Amino acid sequence: MALVNEHLMKLPDNYLFADIAKKVNSFKVTHPKADIIHLGIGDVTRPIPQACAEAMKAAVDDLTHADTFHGYGPEQGYSFLTDAILKHDYAQRGVSLAANEIFVGDGAKSDTGNIGDILRHDNSIGVTDPIYPAYIDSNVSCGRAGTPDKDNRWSNVVYIPCLAENDFTPELPKQRVDIIYLCYPNNPTGSVLSKSELKKWVNYAIDNDTLILFDAAYEAYIRQPDIPHSIYEIKGARKVAIEFRSFSKTAGFTGVRCGYTVIPQEVTAATLSGKRISLNRLWSKRQNSKFNGASYIAQRGAAAIYTPEGKEQVKEMTGYYMRNAQLMKHWLDSTGLKVSGGENAPYLWVKAPKGFSSWQFFEHLLYNAHVVSTPGIGFGPNGEGYVRLTAFGDRQECEEGMKRICQHL
Ligand SMILES: *Cc1c(COP(=O)(O)O)cnc(C)c1O
Repeated sequence: MALVNEHLMKLPDNYLFADIAKKVNSFKVTHPKADIIHLGIGDVTRPIPQACAEAMKAAVDDLTHADTFHGYGPEQGYSFLTDAILKHDYAQRGVSLAANEIFVGDGAKSDTGNIGDILRHDNSIGVTDPIYPAYIDSNVSCGRAGTPDKDNRWSNVVYIPCLAENDFTPELPKQRVDIIYLCYPNNPTGSVLSKSELKKWVNYAIDNDTLILFDAAYEAYIRQPDIPHSIYEIKGARKVAIEFRSFSKTAGFTGVRCGYTVIPQEVTAATLSGKRISLNRLWSKRQNSKFNGASYIAQRGAAAIYTPEGKEQVKEMTGYYMRNAQLMKHWLDSTGLKVSGGENAPYLWVKAPKGFSSWQFFEHLLYNAHVVSTPGIGFGPNGEGYVRLTAFGDRQECEEGMKRICQHL
């Protein structure tokens, strides 16, 4: 008899976006003519940069000729990509990394989830709350999150509240944690950490022997010059942090699939007997046993974002979304709603009017403005009373949506 992984069964079936789809569908039944504007799901909408498209077409051509054919690639990614990453994403920001510290993969969701394979099942976990749900889900599915209470708080997870009162900046946890997830710029609140705030976390990790899992998927949206793009801009981070990057939001690669993970040689974790083990080597083993690399085509496409044309086109694309965010924020501010984010991230975190829960405000926006948002409660207990709006939509739709919200609030 084959036995199932019962931890996986603890994950709720009614995934947030399925619940949203259900509510939108029942709205459609009663309002068949309504023109619905989707500002909920965090997927991009602009076409991929031309430079990436051309590089991928050329890569397909390479595959069609025996002398330029590529089969399985190097385990950690092609050097044409890792060299570009080292130079443009790190050296230019004063961070020195080696090629063997970069692991190219198929995206940050798989890497942030799979990284749990190299860490024991009974580490304690800390997350900022609200948070990108995939971090907790991947811990639930191997039993590391423990058991849920009636509010869906997991027994082995320390929730670090990010509230309006602290400007959505997390305070250091009172209780020691083994592993902490940080995502900056943040999904869903759109907040960022200053250099001194991030330094607090690196120092905490050094003092408490905590591993930081730093998700920088939205790094390309940072506009303020003094906000760190990488955790390795902070002294000491090389010993305590793993960083995840993705081309999904940077270059519209949500459907292409490419990202990378950085594990400096100094990052270690302990065996039960206290021996320190290199996580770079352990992740390398894990990848070699379960992964065969991102496609040659995707890696060629990703490398093109570092060319002069690619850089320009990425700037234009992220600029388009950030202009959306700015316009949306302007409209929403005029309604008197409390809105944060949208300045260094493509997300707006909107406080529901007094008396509304996340889902009530979600329905209010759907039924009155025909705008789909994401209820904040879907991102954790401290997301209650908020909705998230994304700036990833079409300009006209974003503006029309905001106009309607203004009219109907
Ligand atoms: C979209 C997103 C990612 C990117 O995931 P991919 O698998 O690379 O597409 C990673 N982290 C967060 C917080 C995200 O919102």
